[in-house]
Amino acid sequence: MKKLQGNDSFQRINYLYQISKHMAGINPVLSAYYGNLIVNVAKKNVLKIHPDIKRQICKKCRSTLVDGTSAKMKIKNKDKSKCIEWICNTCGTKKVFPADKDKDHRVWLERPEAVEEVIN
Ligand SMILES: [Zn+2]
Repeated sequence: MKKLQGNDSFQRINYLYQISKHMAGINPVLSAYYGNLIVNVAKKNVLKIHPDIKRQICKKCRSTLVDGTSAKMKIKNKDKSKCIEWICNTCGTKKVFPADKDKDHRVWLERPEAVEEVIN
């Protein structure tokens, strides 16, 4: 059986992400602390954070963005195209993602052609 590189770190990132998200509505400082740990663990082990997780971490204060508790989410129209805007309640940083329904905005990792091998 093939051993996955960085598997322990992925498990740690997964665990940290869960506490960070849980803490988002209770203690924003702790949430940012765990978010910071996620980024540092990934950096130290040269791993890519999954885009779904990465999109939920504020790029400035690194707290987890949860709509209604730690962040505000809005859908905006910008030059005839739709985009999703996230505003962090802790530091006020904006994050904008394109969201047109007729365009494929998925990042490379989410596309079927990105899967090279499935390890069971
Ligand atoms: Zn923030």
